[in-house]
Amino acid sequence: MDLSLYEGSPVLVQGESPVQRVLGEIMSSWVVTVFGFNLLMTTRARWVERIFGGLDKMYLIHRRSGVIAAVLLLVHFGTVPRHPVFSAGKPMGFAAMALIILGIAFAAAPLMKRKIPYHKWVNGHRLMGLFYVVGIAHALSVPTLIAQLPIVRTYVFGMALLGCASWFYRAFVFRLVHRPAPYTIAKVRRFGGSVVEICMAPKKAPLEHEAGQFVFLSFDQHSPKESHPFTIASAPTEEELRIVIKASGDFTSDLVAQVDTGEQVRVEGPYGHLTQGHFGSGEQVWIAGGIGITPFLALAHSLADSGKKTKLLWSVRSKDEAYFDDELRTLAQGSATFDYEIWQSNEQGYLSVDGAGGRETFRGKDVIICGPSAFRDSLMTQLEKAGTKSRQIHSEEFAFR
Ligand SMILES: Cc1cc2nc3c(=O)[nH]c(=O)nc-3n(C[C@H](O)[C@H](O)[C@H](O)COP(=O)(O)OP(=O)(O)OC[C@H]3O[C@@H](n4cnc5c(N)ncnc54)[C@H](O)[C@@H]3O)c2cc1C
Repeated sequence: MDLSLYEGSPVLVQGESPVQRVLGEIMSSWVVTVFGFNLLMTTRARWVERIFGGLDKMYLIHRRSGVIAAVLLLVHFGTVPRHPVFSAGKPMGFAAMALIILGIAFAAAPLMKRKIPYHKWVNGHRLMGLFYVVGIAHALSVPTLIAQLPIVRTYVFGMALLGCASWFYRAFVFRLVHRPAPYTIAKVRRFGGSVVEICMAPKKAPLEHEAGQFVFLSFDQHSPKESHPFTIASAPTEEELRIVIKASGDFTSDLVAQVDTGEQVRVEGPYGHLTQGHFGSGEQVWIAGGIGITPFLALAHSLADSGKKTKLLWSVRSKDEAYFDDELRTLAQGSATFDYEIWQSNEQGYLSVDGAGGRETFRGKDVIICGPSAFRDSLMTQLEKAGTKSRQIHSEEFAFR
């Protein structure tokens, strides 16, 4: 390998392997790039959301690429030659690396996910941006080949600036720019002890949204510092926002048991790409699992008579958990193009492609799935086996970590 370009470079010290130096710095430039994009994703900017196909998908990529960047960081540390002369950049780099690796292990470990409540976990995770800034300070204060090659330097420090600016924006500016809309709870309906429906009236201008989108809600009377994502179940034409919440942890169980009319809610958003504009223009099959019915309530009310043939399959454990059965049946009866069927897994077993009529039910149609991850993954695999193209299958993640 001819590395004569670097001969006489003050970066290379005697006896140092140029191959290791180049490899180590390639790794560091990738680390800067991947973390730079990861921090960009946390800004929740609309144009970034569009690139990644929705906030839920964006967080999924954020999770995976974070782990990849940690591996690249370790390879950088293992390959880049050490300078014999001490500089402040060296301990800084080591500290940044150790903190980033620990931070990613903390964020990704299943045990941590089970044991630490989401809001505490996310507050700790936000420190990752600060560790990145320390890493960039390290890169600026040690001698590198990157700093000597103008094009590479522009690229790498450009990515570093993107990452640092994104972190700064999310940490200090986001709250000032994205002021949540104030709403008051106007109606509350409880179903079976584990699900609550709330309808909220706007105190100022109502939020504009598309059917299928979600918002982040903070409830002034219930852990006001936490904001949780919930899908809007009302159609965009309705002024009140309807949200249906299932108890799945401390926060949602508290809401299901206690939330009441008159309470104040702050609404931030909307986000998400589970909307008609992102599906094809032909026939559709919607598949909901349990609480995954929420986007379809909004979508079904917005179908009106669009002329687009749509079939909704709602899988519930038993008929008494199909709280919106009457509402959906009424919509289907009043429409020539909207068809609705309920699937009771206690009597019929788990919903499957064969159970839903086999490949003919789905041939050439866009399939939209929302429900628990195991339910969605199983149906997606079956659909792909039955010949549905992956670009025709749309779904939404109901968890961000
Ligand atoms: C895009 C999207 C739409 C959703 N729509 C609905 C809906 O319409 N109805 C409904 O009942 N549920 C919905 N959820 C799920 C709902 O957000 C979680 O059930 C709720 O946040 C759980 O909080 P908890 O503290 O009660 O439970 P926990 O046991 O603390 O959390 C359970 C899991 O929910 C996720 N979670 C918890 N807190 C947050 C948070 N602040 N932000 C992001 N994720 C979090 C985490 O993955 C966590 O592991 C949606 C989730 C997403 C991502």
